[in-house]
Amino acid sequence: MIRFDNTWVRDLPGSFLRLAPDVAPDPQLLAWNDALAAELGLDPAVKSHAARWFSGAELPPGADPIAMAYAGHQFGGFSPQLGDGRAHLLGEIVDGQGRRWDIQLKGSGRTPFSRGGDGKAAIGPMLREYVISEAMAAMGIPTTRALAVVATGETVWRDADRLPGAVVARVAASHIRVGSFQFFASRGEMDKLRALMNYTIARHYPHLAADDALGLFDAVTRAQARLVARWMGVGFVHGVMNTDNVALSGETIDYGPCAFMEGYAPGTVFSSIDRQGRYAYANQPLILGWNLARLAEALLPFFDSDEARAVDLANARLGDIAGIYEAEYQAVMAAKLGLAAPDAGLVADLLAGLSGVDWTMFFRRLSEEGGQAVQAMAPGLAEWLARWQAMNPDLAAMRKVNPAIIPRNHLVEAALEAATAGEMAPFHALVAEIRRPFDSATGREGFALPAPEGFGDYVTFCGT
Ligand code: AMP
Ligand code: MG
Repeated sequence: MIRFDNTWVRDLPGSFLRLAPDVAPDPQLLAWNDALAAELGLDPAVKSHAARWFSGAELPPGADPIAMAYAGHQFGGFSPQLGDGRAHLLGEIVDGQGRRWDIQLKGSGRTPFSRGGDGKAAIGPMLREYVISEAMAAMGIPTTRALAVVATGETVWRDADRLPGAVVARVAASHIRVGSFQFFASRGEMDKLRALMNYTIARHYPHLAADDALGLFDAVTRAQARLVARWMGVGFVHGVMNTDNVALSGETIDYGPCAFMEGYAPGTVFSSIDRQGRYAYANQPLILGWNLARLAEALLPFFDSDEARAVDLANARLGDIAGIYEAEYQAVMAAKLGLAAPDAGLVADLLAGLSGVDWTMFFRRLSEEGGQAVQAMAPGLAEWLARWQAMNPDLAAMRKVNPAIIPRNHLVEAALEAATAGEMAPFHALVAEIRRPFDSATGREGFALPAPEGFGDYVTFCGT
């Protein structure tokens, strides 16, 4: 009824350590993603095994669990060895359309890559990954997803707090990261680096020939530029765009300290550890280029056998990234504004007058009621609104790209707090609403409004 395959284990020796997840003492299924299970074509009977299979209590048929090795630049500093410190890849499943998906447990115990960590996770952050990734999926933004969250029955300690432990079962197009390439490149393991490159081409960009390093780099550039442009469109701040959290597939991965911006502010940062604002909202496009430069460095020997030529080829590409991103971003903004053609000047003038205005509500009200109705929200934009209105924007099309409902920070926190105390209903209610982001907020206004005044600045935490 479920059968794992393990191409990673077969094809990429030296990139992982084989080891089993911890056995959860008392697994209880907290959340099961029926919609995703159906998309994957899973037998409905899988759900009855989910608590055990997706917590580490028991291995599903064919699983060959591993911790993957990778390196990465974290906040600009290079670590030659990170790797899955609290995750186990069970293997891959192939859906009805022949697409291959990784299924990975996160929070499933220590590995040789754990460094000082406990290898565990509390239920709050695992449910957070579920709800935010589900919101991204519902908005059509490429993302890993959560199939299940299972409470383990263990206690996890975080800052002197005792918290219930949990494991999330994450479904990803793959877990190949920029840091996976950096791992072999920094060790000078060229045969393994080549095998990884060709595995990535075959799995994600099969239109490319083997060994087409430049083609791979260009394809990843396009996928990542499109992804970050989509984030910017919905006000998403990833929070830890380290190279180990950048997927070659172009999916959003590793939901740690991420959150959605409410009042428009380019410097928005949620992560408690990002004191310099490296991963602030408006800095994400620059970091995209920085991270792709790290990928280019790792792939450099395959760009050309002549080093100087390889460097020239890389530099030409790095010089193009800003323009590739900008085209994607302007396309996203044109769609948000209901316009057939991009208009960068119009976007710049809008942003200049939007400071502090709720990003999501502004665009949604614009889509529902047009320029007149939002004047009160942004009094400085009266002239801009008249100019935009005169361009005959397509409001119906706008309502398909401007969400009414995003996972509002105060609601996410309330749902996670309740879940931690054993009450799952607010979490399920929130998930039900964020699954319909583009439907009208009428009748569910409580999910559409920004945080009340007293909520204060929102702070999120990594690796929790
Ligand atoms: P992240 O911030 O989730 O991308 O994690 C960065 C690195 O820290 C990865 O190598 C993780 O596996 C590791 N890590 C995060 N939390 C823990 C933990 N509680 N125990 C062990 N390793 C962890
Ligand atoms: Mg990570």
